[in-house]
Amino acid sequence: MGGRIRAAVAAWLVLTTTAAWGGDRPNILVFFSDDHAYQAISAYGDPRRLVETPNIDRIARQGMRFDRCLVPNSICGPSRAALLTGTYSHRNGFYNNTNSRFDGTQQTFPKRLQAAGYQTALVGKWHLVSDPTGFDHWHILPGQGAYYNPPMIRDGQRVSYQGYVTDIITDLALKWLDARDHNRPFLLMVQHKAPHRSWEPALRHLGHDADLDYALPPTLFDDYTGRGLAVRDQDMTIDRTMTAQDLKLVPPARLTPDQRRVWDAYYNPRNEALRKAGLQGEALLRWKYNRYLHDYLGCVKAVDESVGRILDYLDAHGLAHNTLVVYASDQGFYLGEHGWFDKRWIFEESLRTPLLVRWPGRVKAGSVNADLTSVIDLAPTFLEAAGVAVPEGVQGRSLLPILSGSTPDDWRQSFYYEYYEYPQPHHVRPHHGVVTERYKLVRFDGPDVDYWELYDRQTDPHELRSVADDPAYADIRRNLERELERLRRELGVPDQPPAEAYGVVRDAKAGE
Ligand code: CA
Repeated sequence: MGGRIRAAVAAWLVLTTTAAWGGDRPNILVFFSDDHAYQAISAYGDPRRLVETPNIDRIARQGMRFDRCLVPNSICGPSRAALLTGTYSHRNGFYNNTNSRFDGTQQTFPKRLQAAGYQTALVGKWHLVSDPTGFDHWHILPGQGAYYNPPMIRDGQRVSYQGYVTDIITDLALKWLDARDHNRPFLLMVQHKAPHRSWEPALRHLGHDADLDYALPPTLFDDYTGRGLAVRDQDMTIDRTMTAQDLKLVPPARLTPDQRRVWDAYYNPRNEALRKAGLQGEALLRWKYNRYLHDYLGCVKAVDESVGRILDYLDAHGLAHNTLVVYASDQGFYLGEHGWFDKRWIFEESLRTPLLVRWPGRVKAGSVNADLTSVIDLAPTFLEAAGVAVPEGVQGRSLLPILSGSTPDDWRQSFYYEYYEYPQPHHVRPHHGVVTERYKLVRFDGPDVDYWELYDRQTDPHELRSVADDPAYADIRRNLERELERLRRELGVPDQPPAEAYGVVRDAKAGE
């Protein structure tokens, strides 16, 4: 859509939606967690039934669950930049986590809401290097942040807290809600570090699963045949890539002596049993998988409690009816599928992120949407919900019609994806592609490769076999190549990314 037409449509939408919904500006509460796989939200019904998340599920039960919310670049910083701006990495300039720095002078939805009279606050993980802009108050973790006793930065000043990061972020969010100006609408972004690597649960959640043997995903022992070099030559397997710290074979930093005693009481006997058992091969991988899920899902438990506490606050203070609540993650995540943890790929578990939206009276309770939506759609959604014009250049599209139950006839039928960061960490080759309801066409075109893959999710739901060179798919491939070119032109993707898009090689841990 051309800029002028888009602006006209946006203006029309603002008029009509404001008129239809009474012009009452909603509060906007955004939970944005880090690396929270939809497989680890019970409302999404993963067949493994990994964990119960009753509070996050409240948002789904009372609102809409999005089953195909896709990210434009499946990695932390770039996805956060996409959320704020409603644009792709090649537009907002934040390509990767190793050398990108967010240009805070560009338009973001918090800035627009702030200018329109909203009180705006951000608590938790930021990870965009430059200081936040567009927030009356910000209280962030430096860099990746720490799970236990985390240092934070409050409006530019270093502060330090004792306790567990998810609880602290929740406490600070509730404190801000209490102290805000009660006569103006608010935007509050609660951005959890959890359940990001290295998956360190609250001490009260150690042992939450009673040493459960988790069901395995069908692709845990994937041998990567049927696909190209990139899938075989990555560095993100549970088997080979996880460190002693990831697996809790060594204690994390920052614990107080009292906390350390609790940590030791849980992990030490189990680690001792592992050493005695002398597991190898498949048995050792299964052990690692179970340890990983214990820790990851333990982190999710605290996030779910956080959501419950804040939703309870809205209920107790009469705010629930006029607050648009969103739960989303910055991308999906692998919980053992293809033998992996981490994200980055155009493949489904990393491409798809959870998105749940509750807005009483506006969104039908218990509804489900399967359209191709994206985190870049949230900025225009929030602006239009608040009756604020969407700036030119935004590449997402408001979800308001979908939220009211009717998908526009011209809603996107294809979605463009781009990934840049290489070679470290995790050694996933740069790629871009087009995603439709059924197919994915992807081109791996990093510094040392150039080839295509094509997946048919209807016949191959786990994406195990590329049919890019199968003559039966020749027409489909040609059409998808054309669609990919059309999307690249429409989105203004440069033919060659700038050299800095791939990032720089530095400490592997820093880049996630
Ligand atoms: Ca992330």
